Amino acid sequence: MICLDNFSTGMRRNIVHLKRVDRFNVVAHDIVHPLDLEVDEIYNLACPASPPHYQADPIHTTKTCVLGSLNLLELAARTGARILQASTSEVYGDPNVHPQVESYWGNVNSFGPRSCYDEGKRCAETLFFDFHNTHGVEIKIIRIFNTYGPRMRPDDGRVVSNFIVQALTGQDITIYGDGSQTRSFCFVDDLIGGMVRMMASPSSLTGPVNLGNPSEFTIRELAEQVIGLTGSRSQIIHRALPVDDPRQRRPDISLAMQELDWRPKIDLSSGLRQTIDYFDGLLARPARELEAV
Ligand code: UDP
Repeated sequence: MICLDNFSTGMRRNIVHLKRVDRFNVVAHDIVHPLDLEVDEIYNLACPASPPHYQADPIHTTKTCVLGSLNLLELAARTGARILQASTSEVYGDPNVHPQVESYWGNVNSFGPRSCYDEGKRCAETLFFDFHNTHGVEIKIIRIFNTYGPRMRPDDGRVVSNFIVQALTGQDITIYGDGSQTRSFCFVDDLIGGMVRMMASPSSLTGPVNLGNPSEFTIRELAEQVIGLTGSRSQIIHRALPVDDPRQRRPDISLAMQELDWRPKIDLSSGLRQTIDYFDGLLARPARELEAV
């Protein structure tokens, strides 16, 4: 197993325990540059997924999605490897169809602050299908909806980690807009189960297949759950809603249930409990240890 990362947002601390495993190797590399390895399965999860992180260097985000996918697809074509693409619910943009089904083409702005990620991931799907149709590469595309869990960065910037860190440290909880926008949150273990099933599925299943938890919450409800579970005295405050922030999001997972016999098992409150425990432990460490990631 080769773990390839440019460590732009990934933390080395998250893989330290795996270094003891004999067949686990770490290679520091950025997939925007070509690479040559002997592999039989490729999971392409490269790209920051948090809006503040992917917007920090938008050109590099597009390069990661497009050039990165191109480089990995060329590797797959050469080695005959099966390749899975971590696509995203962002391909649906601010959706006019609810819940989102795979056949919906989406409502995406091509030049807004989210476009580097949304259009980058859309173009990656195009490349995957063109390599499949032109070179017979075995492709697997999953569209991941909001996912959270232990090992996220405290400064990730996405809503679940922001609210938990704010609640645990007694800071104000920042709801963007009025908090009526919705998301559906999937615990990381559930997602990984679906990803592995997708990789192992028959060659004829290319996807795209939605993977996510279909239980939908408003952002205000999420804030209230986090406050309740942490027993925090943090106050809710409101900040401006980011440009092009999707109003609602919920996956239709009928295809994943039918083709992969997969559905999430971990509900929001038990997933949040595990994530709160992780951040509680992390934040208790000395600051110098947190910086050394
Ligand atoms: N959000 C929020 N407070 C935060 C971070 C995010 O209210 O501190 C909102 C954000 O505006 C969006 C939702 O939570 O409506 C989910 O945001 P996130 O960045 O986690 O992921 P997205 O689904 O937007 O990519």
